[in-house]
Amino acid sequence: MAWFRKSKEGLPTQEKRNIPEGIWTKCDSCGEVVYGKKMEELLWVCPNCDFHFRIPTQKYIDLLLDDGQLEEYDIEISSLDPLKFKDSKKYPDRIKAAQQKTGKTEGVIAGMATMGGIEISFAIMNFQFIGGSMGSVVGEKIARAIERAIEKEVPLIIVSSSGGARMQEGILSLMQMAKTSALLAILHEKKIPYISILTNPTTAGVMASYASLGDVILVEPKALLGFAGPRVIQQTIGQDLPDGFQSSEFFMDKGFVDKIVNRKDLRDTVIALLRFMWSK
Ligand SMILES: [Zn+2]
Repeated sequence: MAWFRKSKEGLPTQEKRNIPEGIWTKCDSCGEVVYGKKMEELLWVCPNCDFHFRIPTQKYIDLLLDDGQLEEYDIEISSLDPLKFKDSKKYPDRIKAAQQKTGKTEGVIAGMATMGGIEISFAIMNFQFIGGSMGSVVGEKIARAIERAIEKEVPLIIVSSSGGARMQEGILSLMQMAKTSALLAILHEKKIPYISILTNPTTAGVMASYASLGDVILVEPKALLGFAGPRVIQQTIGQDLPDGFQSSEFFMDKGFVDKIVNRKDLRDTVIALLRFMWSK
């Protein structure tokens, strides 16, 4: 449409309308453009449509835990390459790249902390690390976080965000589902509370194991939740899927989660639940 621009002198050109990156943020959900500093204040929640942007794990740690303090455990364990897996990249190279990108050895951070003065075993998944995928190390660190909750008799809180099991470790990834679920059954028998917090997105093997086994399951608004992708389900059942399928709101409506919680209310909600469920 160059002829059109030429005929209208003085109109702003595309170059002039360009906004320096990082100052303004465009909402992925509604397209609203918000000033970056304002987004920080709003905890990266869109003021127009309530869409919750993905935020780094450290921001959740700062937001949820007393004084943002986490005594981290199992920092040293990292993945091996049992299947000698290679797709577009060798698996060890993929791990190395993820480690450089995140500054962490694996896709979950776990340790001991307090919330509202109550001691907890805490774990948070990192979506930046190979899509928050659950390999044997993620499974092991989650399992150890559950074991710490059992041994120390303290509530367990896990913040999930995951694309599912890590295909590069095949069956060893899938085994983590059974391992973590079995330990959660022991935690349940001991009557120690487990609060599962789901963030965007929580899907597949993680959703089908520990993420959906909380005594209370909290979820941020408009998160993508589910097991398989919509196309796979559609092909399997041969039916059209309903609107808003695989969202927090749909899951709430169907009784799969207990409460949709805005990020700014997350800490207070968890503390209130802990006080209600736990008296030690
Ligand atoms: Zn929005």
